[in-house]
Amino acid sequence: MTRRQWLLSLSLLFSLFASPAWGNDPHASHTLNITPGQDTYDLTGRALILEQPEGRSLSPSELLADTTRDWQPLSSSAPNFSFSDRAYWLRLDITNTDTRTRRLILDIAQPLQDYIDAWWMIEGGTVREWHTGDRRPLSDRPFRYRAFALSLPLTPDQSGTLLIRFSSHDGLYDALPLTLSSDAAFFKRNDAESLGFGFYYGAITILLLYNLIVGLVTRERNFVLYSVYLFFFLSWNLAFRGYLGISLLADHPTLNNMAVAVLSCGLFFSLVAFTQGFLNLRQTLPLTGRLLWGLSALLLIPTGLAVMDVYASTFAVLIPIAVVILLTVLYAGARASLQGSVSARIFLLAWTLLIGAVFAYYARVFGLLPSSWLLENALNLGSLIEILVLSLALAYRINELKQKDLVSQQQLIDQKEQLNTELQQRVETKTRELQNLADKLERESITDALTGLLNRRTFYPKLESELRRLQREPTQTLCLTLLDLDHFKALNDHYGHPAGDRLLKEVSDLLQLHWKRSGDAVFRLGGEEFAILFYTRNLYTVSERLEAFRQALKTIPLPTSPPPTDSVPTQLTASLGVGLVSALYSLSPDELYAMADRALYSGKDRGRDCIHYCSATDRTPRPRLEHQ
Ligand code: GH3
Ligand code: MG
Ligand code: MG
Repeated sequence: MTRRQWLLSLSLLFSLFASPAWGNDPHASHTLNITPGQDTYDLTGRALILEQPEGRSLSPSELLADTTRDWQPLSSSAPNFSFSDRAYWLRLDITNTDTRTRRLILDIAQPLQDYIDAWWMIEGGTVREWHTGDRRPLSDRPFRYRAFALSLPLTPDQSGTLLIRFSSHDGLYDALPLTLSSDAAFFKRNDAESLGFGFYYGAITILLLYNLIVGLVTRERNFVLYSVYLFFFLSWNLAFRGYLGISLLADHPTLNNMAVAVLSCGLFFSLVAFTQGFLNLRQTLPLTGRLLWGLSALLLIPTGLAVMDVYASTFAVLIPIAVVILLTVLYAGARASLQGSVSARIFLLAWTLLIGAVFAYYARVFGLLPSSWLLENALNLGSLIEILVLSLALAYRINELKQKDLVSQQQLIDQKEQLNTELQQRVETKTRELQNLADKLERESITDALTGLLNRRTFYPKLESELRRLQREPTQTLCLTLLDLDHFKALNDHYGHPAGDRLLKEVSDLLQLHWKRSGDAVFRLGGEEFAILFYTRNLYTVSERLEAFRQALKTIPLPTSPPPTDSVPTQLTASLGVGLVSALYSLSPDELYAMADRALYSGKDRGRDCIHYCSATDRTPRPRLEHQ
């Protein structure tokens, strides 16, 4: 595709929106009559347009002399040649039918028009000539005005012809809004416009500074990104509306043109950066986010072209990228809105409003909607409302973030509470386990591991406490019986230690069976030696109970293998020594133990398998039981 074909196809895209700049009725009368009392004149159907053949440079007189030229009447008050490397001529014949001299001004309200060469001719002679345009120094302009205005004086009944040649730096035109009015009407309009733009730029500047300060103070990145977007919007707008070209860059027309293109790229880049942060695309829509970053990287191409001052190519590349970026931003806003974010909905509303305003504005420019103050200012109003609504969206976003913070704080508190409860439960479980272990250790420390009976450690304290208790029970007698199995060593040696252990266990079970009343206590004092501690009111039942046990002991079967020998007893027997004491006597534990021990050893001495008694009467004249 050649450069010309490429430009033509882009023009075709543009012409879908634009109505043609000229009509097809060249034979009608085109002279514009200036009438008394009328301030503003519509040029459509009056002015004529001619596309200059490529490569030919013509002088105005040459052109006027050539009657074969295909002049076409202007059909729009804002003709747009968009992408074209041709030059365009405009011809306007004016007759003053007023009785007064009229000073007319043709306003070409397109600050970015590259070259404007104009000739004001009266009766065939050029009376005024201008060579201006935004590619030429500001000093060449007839008025120090953001766009271009040509002053056309006419005395009564005088006729004049205005010829203008529009040409471009490298093939791109923007719409050329043309208005012919009296000088008074022009200045009045210009004043109103300046006031309106002053208000507009003032509002944006305040919002920019406000968001920047809020962003820097709160360290909320979105506010800063938004103020960066506003900075690009403001500076691009100042350049686009021609204010940069008559102020900061007044003496640098080329730089001013580069600025328009570079700032356009920056505007879309900052829009992408803001959208990424605002909609949190990295988390909510990672794919769309990456697509947008990719598109914004593509913006480097038109930026490079802009710096090289290839203006038309810059926009030929930038426009498609910008359209895709805008559609993607809208798509992201719509998706985020569907995900339920209120701030995303406000964001989407803001962009829809702006795009609506752009459509409304161009609908007016191309005559689809009747002109009105609202539509004329649709771009400014729309962008201002968009900027305000976006500020609102930002405020809402902060609210949402705060809400999110509160929720996550609550979650942290809940988590902490849950951890505390778990910790408490664990501590309780551990405490219970420790308590059980302590109980077990205590039990083990007071009981005998083999038989489960109370052990020797608990025997003396118990004996002591029972003797004290006896003092409070005058009718009771405390009975301490020491029991030692007979010839147990022989049994143990013959049948083996494990069998001996089993016998010891059976003896202890039998003891517990015979002494299970409350107040009874049975101990294993060590080896095959046991102690029984119990109370009685009737001394005669003592021997009955002990005797019953002695007999029962004999029924415990001995192991059958190895077969018994002569040196091994044939049955299990024990010798019992009993010490008895009543409340009348106060004995020490040792004294009572010694009594029972004496009785036991006298039993051992006298042949074993017997019960011997020793009562406190052994020391005092109180009831006495005979030895058996
Ligand atoms: P005596 O009739 O004079 O009491 O004779 P004896 O053999 O029973 O007494 P001695 O004190 O000489 O022996 C006690 C034996 O008890 C020694 C040991 O073989 C046995 N013995 C001590 N403690 C245990 C034990 O815990 N398990 C087993 N299996 N045997 C034990
Ligand atoms: Mg012994
Ligand atoms: Mg023994």
